[in-house]
Amino acid sequence: ERTIVVVGGGLAGAKAVEALREQGFDGSLVLLAAEDRLPYERPPLSKEYLQTGEGLDDTTVHPREWYDEQRIDLRLGQRATGFDPAARTVTTSAGEHLAYDVLLLATGAQPRTLDLPGADLDGVLTLRTVADSDRLRAAFTEDARVVVVGGGWIGLETAAAARTAGASVTVLESLELPLLRVLGPRMATMFAQLHREHGVDLRTETEVEGFEGDGSVTGVRLRSGEVLPADVVVVGVGAAPDVELAEAAGLRIDNGVVTDAHGQTSDEHVYAVGDVAQYPDALSGKHIRVEHWANALNHPAAVASGMLGKDATYDDLPYFFTDQYDLGMEYVGLGEASDDVVVRGDLDKRELIAFWVRDGRVRAGMNVNVWDVVDDVKALIRSEKPVDLQRLADPDVPLTSV
Ligand code: FAD
Repeated sequence: ERTIVVVGGGLAGAKAVEALREQGFDGSLVLLAAEDRLPYERPPLSKEYLQTGEGLDDTTVHPREWYDEQRIDLRLGQRATGFDPAARTVTTSAGEHLAYDVLLLATGAQPRTLDLPGADLDGVLTLRTVADSDRLRAAFTEDARVVVVGGGWIGLETAAAARTAGASVTVLESLELPLLRVLGPRMATMFAQLHREHGVDLRTETEVEGFEGDGSVTGVRLRSGEVLPADVVVVGVGAAPDVELAEAAGLRIDNGVVTDAHGQTSDEHVYAVGDVAQYPDALSGKHIRVEHWANALNHPAAVASGMLGKDATYDDLPYFFTDQYDLGMEYVGLGEASDDVVVRGDLDKRELIAFWVRDGRVRAGMNVNVWDVVDDVKALIRSEKPVDLQRLADPDVPLTSV
């Protein structure tokens, strides 16, 4: 009997075992999951769940019985500690050596931390897991002084949750604007204003020098010398792909585990998917690593085909969403900060679609508080046709005919 071992019990790992069974794999299937909890989806951890403590059940990918019905040997709380590509065995934290025919790495990513004095004080926290989210919610009381380091998606969503809970919130960003590298100045300004309007003290071009406190954090020291009082600090400075196992086994790594279009790594028996993988984007041909929910949800089916020796292409465009206060948005495609941004709609009311245009073609689109347009935006990006910028900006021109 053939054996497939999947390492990583996040969304990508859970969707991969599902796809393998759906596509007819009836051999032995092991899912090693380091966390003590059934595989779950993370987006609510910085949004609804962080604010209300509710909705966790909806985020569980499959109920416990499902794994039994599907004959999936789910090992919660067990991590792979290494694998031997020549012998094709995985070692687990329970001390076992499992033989595999094909191995899938779905180890995800880990929050980056800051190598600064005081970074290990109590109350200097990151956000990746349910336990992290619970810890933050407990800390976000009305009299709490919360300092968020990093104006990225996680930092801003966390700031919104903390403000909604009534805490005083300062966000520290080293660049001129939060989200500047992802969105470029115009749309980044919209997010900066949103947070300022909701009472966040957003400090840009601000460098953190260290954290102060005795046991627990009490302040954040800035390079300017100022010390901001803090009861809790959230470090949201991005995530790093969890490549430890792949690296130790000598796989090709380049900002993630490098794979081909089928998810195969530099070792023919090892595949990778989800936040940990860097794969060729079907449209641009560029290798990309996508740290988004939709990729962890949809890419595993194609990689499962590759693992079973079938041909399946994955050509989904990167897709991302966020909710902050009363702003909901979806972003699709691959924009660059230097692209021209064309706005259709009302920027002041924050009801709009923004398009990132390069060489006269739409490369990405972001709908803000405007819904049911993602399919049209995707079609526009995929068509790679030159667009008339005036028509693109005109809400009266249907997206299908710009
Ligand atoms: P992970 O979710 O990281 O899962 C990997 C799992 O593997 C982890 O449970 C880890 O413990 C386990 N693991 C690692 N090493 C081993 C090992 N050696 N042995 C066994 N198990 C191991 N994306 C969006 O598109 N929109 C959002 O709004 C959004 N919000 C987010 C909010 C938060 C707070 C976070 C943290 C992420 C958010 N994301 C969002 C990103 C999205 O959650 C990720 O892209 C997705 O979780 C990736 O899934 P994954 O399975 O590849 O990795």
